[in-house]
Amino acid sequence: MTEPLLRIEGLRKSFGALVATDDVSLTVRPGEIHALIGPNGAGKSTLIKQIAGGLPPDAGRIFFDGQDITGLGTVARARAGLGRTFQISSLAMEYTVLQNAMLGALGRAGSVWRFFRPVMQDTGLREAAMSALERVGLEEHAAQRTADLSHGQRRQLEVAVALTLQPRAFLMDEPMAGLGADGSQRLTGFLDGLRHEAPILLVEHDMDAVFALADRISVLVYGRIIATGTAAEIRANADVREAYLGA
Ligand code: ADP
Ligand code: MG
Repeated sequence: MTEPLLRIEGLRKSFGALVATDDVSLTVRPGEIHALIGPNGAGKSTLIKQIAGGLPPDAGRIFFDGQDITGLGTVARARAGLGRTFQISSLAMEYTVLQNAMLGALGRAGSVWRFFRPVMQDTGLREAAMSALERVGLEEHAAQRTADLSHGQRRQLEVAVALTLQPRAFLMDEPMAGLGADGSQRLTGFLDGLRHEAPILLVEHDMDAVFALADRISVLVYGRIIATGTAAEIRANADVREAYLGA
C-alpha cells in the first residue's frame, strides 16, 4: 500500500458548545480522489479550513508528505504544495480572469494585493496562470472582466487559481456547486485526470460526481466520520443511507 500524501489524525474543532469536527482522521493517497460527503452543517468546510490552515484545530495533527504541518500557517501550507478551492467564491470580480489567476495564486502563496504591479510583471507566474486557464478551457477569456463570466466559468476559474500554484494535492470544497449537468460533467472529466497529478480531497454534494470519481468516500455526520469505503460499500451501508443518502 502506498504511503498517504496527506494524513490527518484526530482533528477537532469546537465553536463554543458546538463540536464542528470531532476526532476526524483520514488519509489521501497518491492518485486518489477521496470524497467527503455529509449533510449541511456536518463540518465539511470546517475540516477543509483546518487542513488548509485557516482555522487552528483544538486537537489533532496534519501530516503532508510525511511532514507535520499542523503548526504551519496557510501560506506555508500552500507553498508546501497544498492547493485549495473555496465553497464561496474568492475571486475579485473587477479584475480580469488572468489577473485573478495570478493574484489569487499569489494571495494564497503569501504576497499582498498591493504588490499588484510587480505581480503582474512576473512572467513565470503569468505563464503558469495562462497554462492553468488553458487547462480549464478559459484561455479565450483571459482578458475578460471576471464579473462578466458565467457562474460555471467562475467555478472553472476557481480551479485555475488553485492550479496556478501547481500543488501536489488539492482540497476542494464543493467545486460543482451551481454547475448545470454539462458543467458538472466537464469538471468531473477534468478532475478524473487531475488526480494522477495531484490527489484530491473532494467535498461534494453532487452524488453523481462523487460516485463517478471517488476511490474512497468518507461520510461526516455531526462532525464525526461514520463510514469510509468504496462507492459500493458506502451505497450499501445502512447507517449512511439513514443519515445521508435516504433509504
Ligand atoms: P458543512 O460545510 O458540512 O456544511 P460547516 O463546516 O460549514 O459544515 O459547519 C459545521 C458547523 O459549524 C455548523 O453548525 C456551522 O454553523 C458551525 N460553524 C462553522 N463555522 C463557524 C464559526 N466560524 N463560528 C461558529 N460556528 C461555526
Ligand atoms: Mg460547507
